[in-house]
Amino acid sequence: MSMNENYQKDFLLSDEDKKFRKEIQDFVEKKIRPVADEIENTDDFSYIRKIYKQMGEENLLSLPFKKYYKGWLKNPGVINSTLLAEEICRISAAPGIAFGASMFYGKALYVAGNEQVLENYLKPITTGEKMGAICITEPSVGSDTANMQTNAVLDKDEWIINGKKRFITNAGEAELNIVYCVTDPELKAKRRHMSAIIVPKDVKGFRTKQYKFMGRRGFRNGEIILDDVRVPKENLVGNIGDGHKILMTQFNTERTTIAGQCIGIATAAFEEAKDFARNRTQFGEKIVQKQAIYLKIAEMATKLDATRLLCYRAAKMVDAELPGRKIMREAAMAKLHASEVAKEICDDALQILGGEGWTKTGYGTKYHVERYYRDIRIHLIGGGTSTIQKYVIASKELNLPLRL
Ligand SMILES: Cc1cc2nc3c(=O)[nH]c(=O)nc-3n(C[C@H](O)[C@H](O)[C@H](O)COP(=O)(O)OP(=O)(O)OC[C@H]3O[C@@H](n4cnc5c(N)ncnc54)[C@H](O)[C@@H]3O)c2cc1C
Repeated sequence: MSMNENYQKDFLLSDEDKKFRKEIQDFVEKKIRPVADEIENTDDFSYIRKIYKQMGEENLLSLPFKKYYKGWLKNPGVINSTLLAEEICRISAAPGIAFGASMFYGKALYVAGNEQVLENYLKPITTGEKMGAICITEPSVGSDTANMQTNAVLDKDEWIINGKKRFITNAGEAELNIVYCVTDPELKAKRRHMSAIIVPKDVKGFRTKQYKFMGRRGFRNGEIILDDVRVPKENLVGNIGDGHKILMTQFNTERTTIAGQCIGIATAAFEEAKDFARNRTQFGEKIVQKQAIYLKIAEMATKLDATRLLCYRAAKMVDAELPGRKIMREAAMAKLHASEVAKEICDDALQILGGEGWTKTGYGTKYHVERYYRDIRIHLIGGGTSTIQKYVIASKELNLPLRL
């Protein structure tokens, strides 16, 4: 890539961010590229755990938490964890997603937790010793998060929690879970009915059940069942009734980072499509010279660059520590655009590769486009569906109250 192209791609990034990107490209090439196909073929989480630990050793799990960061960046932040998500997902989605869930968990604690919560439940995440999970979704509650049923009751010095969460990334693997639950149903109209409580996975009454999916092989996700689970009252994050506010703030980081994950997967698909088109000859010339393909490449490149601008803008806004409500529109735009466009790019890449696009790596092709095509699809659903992102954006544009 020429200097000029680099500028276009990265112009919202500081010199420090660009140097950081180079460094992590080296990390992902050395630590993830050699095992990416193994992760896909074996669905073995131990690869993810090993990569995660190495990320801890390299100061990559503390990027959004300046207080705990010990690396060379002067201004670490969500922009860096988003770039990292992008670079990991360019190689393999599963470790990028496991890392993402831990970071979203950490961000919720970082914005609202007291010193004790941070020391006990965030610090071990930043070193790679422990993993985190965020527990919002339930069997009867998806987009309508404020309607959740899982409840927590204070009994002297302990919270007793009952309920069921589903679709939880890192379920069963994460040692630490932030569980959003109802603590006072009477305050629902004011959105003060929910609280966020840390639940370690080794407590009595905590069980998990794994799901299987069409993509992201190697990652773990499933149900978390909370059956009279008891945790100390100090495990509350922020104050009683802060749950909804914490959740909305956490979503900003989550949606921005998911946009980064989408850019990573789409970039990988785009690079493979260009490589294939440059090398495939039909009707006596390379297909890249056929105008239909040539124009498709232009569209894909433009979509990717536009997505980067939206994504890095949202990340920079999160790092500027603006109030959560002031970033919702931009974070929703980043996630909406990135996921929709990345899906189109993966689909176009598959089409450019023809039959090889639908073929598994190692069985008739060296390309991975069928994997990217499967892996990208969930990004239009997790972290809030595209419809919900549009609802957030339109509500902000029209100055209407957000009823989430
Ligand atoms: C792989 C994966 C990982 C996930 N990771 C996590 C996690 O770590 N933690 C967690 O808590 N959750 C997680 N989720 C859950 C995810 O956030 C939800 O799936 C998502 O928010 C949508 O909820 P739902 O699937 O229940 O769909 P629903 O909310 O039931 O929506 C179904 C359909 O109805 C549409 N819809 C809903 N409301 C409206 C409306 N008002 N107007 C118009 N259309 C509407 C939706 O857009 C969608 O198309 C994950 C999900 C998956 C599949």
